[in-house]
Amino acid sequence: MDKKNSINFSCNLNRRTFLVASAAAAVSLGLGGIPQPAHAAAPYTLPPLPYGENALEPVISARTIGFHYGKHHGAYMDNLNKLIAGTKFADMPLADIIKSTAGQVDMTAIFNNAAQFWNHSFYWQGLTPKGGGEPPAALKQKMEDSFGSVDACKKEFADTTVAQFGSGWGWLVLNEGKLKVVKTGNADVPFTQGMKPLLTIDVWEHAYYLDYQNRRADYVKAVLDKLVNWEFALQNLG
Ligand code: MN
Repeated sequence: MDKKNSINFSCNLNRRTFLVASAAAAVSLGLGGIPQPAHAAAPYTLPPLPYGENALEPVISARTIGFHYGKHHGAYMDNLNKLIAGTKFADMPLADIIKSTAGQVDMTAIFNNAAQFWNHSFYWQGLTPKGGGEPPAALKQKMEDSFGSVDACKKEFADTTVAQFGSGWGWLVLNEGKLKVVKTGNADVPFTQGMKPLLTIDVWEHAYYLDYQNRRADYVKAVLDKLVNWEFALQNLG
C-alpha cells in the first residue's frame, strides 16, 4: 500500500503538474502542493517560500533562511538543471529522477541534487510561523496509536533527528499504516524505501549553525515546539 502511495505521490512532482497543483496548493499539499511559478515548464525554478524570510524568527533567523533557501536550496536546483539538461531525466517527474538514481554509483550527482532540491522544498512546507502546539485531532490520534502519546512521538522525532551522525534529515513518515520516525544521511529520502514522508527537519549544519552553532538539539526542539506545521503532516497523511 505504501509503495502505491509513494508512486502517486511521485506523480504529483512532475514540473507540469505544478501548474495545476499550485492552483489547489492549499488542498493538495502532498508533494504537488509546492507552489511553482507559471513559467516552470522548462528548467526547475525555486518554489516560493510559504512565508517571509524573517517570519520564522527568532527560531530561525532571516539570515539563515537567506543563505539556506537562497544559496543552498538554489544551488541544488541550479546543479540539477545543469545535470539533467538534454538527458532522459529532463522530462521525468522529480520523484522518479530520485527513485531511479538512488543507489546508482554513476548517478550520484543527479541523485544528490534532485533529492536535496526535493527535500528542501518539503522542509519549508513543514514549517510555519505559528507552528508547534497541539496537532490536529486526526494526526494526534495517529500519534497516540503509533507512539503512545504526542509527547512520545515528538521525543522520538527529536532524539532520532539529533542523533543523525553528520549531515542529514530527521523524518516523520507513514510506514505500513503507522507513523514512524527515521533519519537519513546526506540527501537520502525515505520514499525510495517505500515510506511516505509527512515532515522533515534538516540537520545539515547550514540549517542551524548561524543561529545555534553546535547546539543541534536546541534547534530541533525549537522547531518542534514552535514551527512544526502539523497541518502539513496531516495533509500528507491523507
Ligand atoms: Mn539544508
